[in-house]
Amino acid sequence: MDFDRLKKFIDEQDIKLDKLYNNFDNDQQKKNLAYAVKLTEEVGELSDEILAYNSFQRQEKLDVKGKDDLGDEFADVMLVLLLLMKNMDIDMEKVLNKKMAKLEKRK
Ligand SMILES: [Mg+2]
Repeated sequence: MDFDRLKKFIDEQDIKLDKLYNNFDNDQQKKNLAYAVKLTEEVGELSDEILAYNSFQRQEKLDVKGKDDLGDEFADVMLVLLLLMKNMDIDMEKVLNKKMAKLEKRK
């Protein structure tokens, strides 16, 4: 997957969510905060899956876990993070390239 396809997907999802949530009352701060809270929710769901993956949950919970749940939750976190970045005018490709270049220089 390339960045252009990912950005287009995020743009489309953002429009869908605007429609679903009545444009967040045309309040960008409200929208940003809603996405930030959603990100926290998704990180919680990912944490649940990481605990299950490492068998740090009761057997009854482990018995109902699906094989794909861990990957789905990683994807949820990434997609909500990208939605938040878009709405806060952070260019995902630019900041990742900048950070990677910085980390590559470290010994
Ligand atoms: Mg989720």
